[in-house]
Amino acid sequence: MSSAGDEGHLNRPVTDLPGVGPGTAEKLGRLGLETLGDLILHLPYRYQDRTRSVPLDELEPGKECLVTGQVTASNVAYGRRRSLITRVSDGRGSLTVRLFHFSRNQQQSMRQSLWMRCFGEVRRGPNGLEMVHPEYRLHQDEPPPPKAELTPVYRATQGLTTTRIGQWVSAAVARCEAAPVSRLPDAEVPDLMDAIRWLHGPGVDGTRAEAEVRIAAARQRVVIDELTGHYLVMKRRQALLKKQSTVALPSGPQLGRQLLENLGFRLTRAQARVTAEVLEDLSDERPMMRLLQGDVGAGKTVVAAFAAIRAAEHGYQTALMAPTEILAEQHFETLSGWLSPLGIGVGLLTGRQSAAERRTRLEAIAQGRDLVAVGTHALFQASVEFHDLALAIIDEQHRFGVHQRMQLRDKGRLPHQLIMTATPIPRTLTMALYADMDVSTIDELPPGRLAVRTHGAAMSRRAEVVDRVARWCAAGRQAYWVCTLIEEDPESRQNAAETIYAELQAEAPGALRFGLVHGRLPQAEKNAVMAAFKAAEIDILVATTVIEVGVDVPNATMMVIDNAERLGLAQLHQLRGRVGRGDAQATCFLLYEAPLSAVARERLSIMRDTNDGFKIAEKDLELRGPGDILGTRQTGEQTFKLADLGADRHLVPQAVALGNRLLAEDEATARAIIETWGGREAEYAGV
Ligand code: ADP
Ligand code: MG
Repeated sequence: MSSAGDEGHLNRPVTDLPGVGPGTAEKLGRLGLETLGDLILHLPYRYQDRTRSVPLDELEPGKECLVTGQVTASNVAYGRRRSLITRVSDGRGSLTVRLFHFSRNQQQSMRQSLWMRCFGEVRRGPNGLEMVHPEYRLHQDEPPPPKAELTPVYRATQGLTTTRIGQWVSAAVARCEAAPVSRLPDAEVPDLMDAIRWLHGPGVDGTRAEAEVRIAAARQRVVIDELTGHYLVMKRRQALLKKQSTVALPSGPQLGRQLLENLGFRLTRAQARVTAEVLEDLSDERPMMRLLQGDVGAGKTVVAAFAAIRAAEHGYQTALMAPTEILAEQHFETLSGWLSPLGIGVGLLTGRQSAAERRTRLEAIAQGRDLVAVGTHALFQASVEFHDLALAIIDEQHRFGVHQRMQLRDKGRLPHQLIMTATPIPRTLTMALYADMDVSTIDELPPGRLAVRTHGAAMSRRAEVVDRVARWCAAGRQAYWVCTLIEEDPESRQNAAETIYAELQAEAPGALRFGLVHGRLPQAEKNAVMAAFKAAEIDILVATTVIEVGVDVPNATMMVIDNAERLGLAQLHQLRGRVGRGDAQATCFLLYEAPLSAVARERLSIMRDTNDGFKIAEKDLELRGPGDILGTRQTGEQTFKLADLGADRHLVPQAVALGNRLLAEDEATARAIIETWGGREAEYAGV
């Protein structure tokens, strides 16, 4: 019997609840709530305190509270706006309740000496404190003391209030009593369902502060469960992967040695170690699933080249995927330069090639003449048929999802996979987030690299910065001017980069050559500009953040980031990584609009103080949480429902330890946790 059919099972659709029809289901769907499990895990993002009626002489403006009093007067005032004004008193003080929209019925119901209980925000009004449009209810007699439970507030959507959502949530919780959720005997809150139930309606029997402590403990219980669930799903996927087989690529004619001799530089010790790890994986028939981490400029591409050579020696193909056309183009050039002399065919496939060009490439790929195919997402399309794919290399993985990785099957088998990222992820997090992968880290930069000198400069010093850039380029060096503004001026249909491009040309002294590259430029033009910049035919490249990843022009040693205060740390670090790639001292100016917010000031100062990607990643987590580090926002794949890897990262080691213990000792609980949290992720565990 399939567990999915079980009564009250977490994976049952929301329409299982009485009263939830297709219309409500559609609205819940907008909040990502499709199953009963989604509903019970839709935890409140805050609480209202309606547990105590606040005496009217204790009210403070700006606070939300519950009040109770008797109506002393009620009448319609005709000021600037007609309003129904009701005075309420509790013997200690009084309050005005003001309604701008009211019916005749409402007006007539506000009779003197009735009791009124309201919940709303207290404001300063023209005649003392008031509440505008509070939730209220009238009572004949003094109402009973309020319920000693905090009121949950849920993320809501149009046509579905938080109260309504709360009702469906309660119904789902009641329905899921028997669902297989985890019990961890030695946890502070052992039962996951207890923790969840508590969070949907926390009782207050002591002080509010005590309730907060218990809420935090319950939340922590759920977060640990979620982190553990994620870890277990990854582990299961890894175990399944280990059972698969693909082509083994043992060491062959050693074409790699030739590349080593031709490179013109010596590998760093870290590059050599990591290359050996990758080649070792490839020689096994179990598919490699390896994450290659290395800060910007650490030299990951050459590791990829050695892996591709290994596949090519055996006559097998490699697909190398990059997130942008510019980057694909650049990888193509680098790899052709290294591999063509070894007799290995390299081809480029992007989304914007002409039909004829594309046909030629597809043929070369299908016939195996292109042993290495470099491209963007275009490489994923069904129309691309490989002759015999054995290795997939994915650069800057955070833009690709697990889903896409799992679609890479060719000839019925998964290829070996190498995922490269320049977004360093702190070790504690890699353990949990990439538990399905082996991790190699290039923790050393090529020798002679100098840290980029970074300066902050307020917009008022812009002219000075322009002057510095102009002198820099007059001395034969090149510069990037990065625009972070993307708004478009509807009048002139110009975008911010175009505007700045025009301004700089007017402002900069001397005869400097400018180039412009942004996302909406036709591909051919983009390529031409990048090629001209690489060939030093352009001095200053004005660009949007399209140059963020991977672009490699060693002679470009100055960067100005315009409106740097708008970017997060990870992105600033990526951008800055475009300079300082050669052995000349590089400089970066962070131009900002004053005044800076506290967080922006902190970010800029971190950028001034360090070039170390791992340190920056740690700080980024502290300041913001890792949503963007892991790129889940870009791909729309939210990894966690509740856990916040910024605030909750101290729980990660605990979750990993727990996961390992359950795998060893308590299969049933492990399964329950996977069932609860697996969702779509779990599908991909079934490779
Ligand atoms: P990333 O890790 O950011 O992808 P790249 O692979 O683009 O870095 O390498 C950055 C630059 O450093 C390239 O110009 C590359 O040729 C060069 N490079 C790589 N490894 C070394 C090395 N061991 N010594 C000197 N230069 C190197
Ligand atoms: Mg790179």
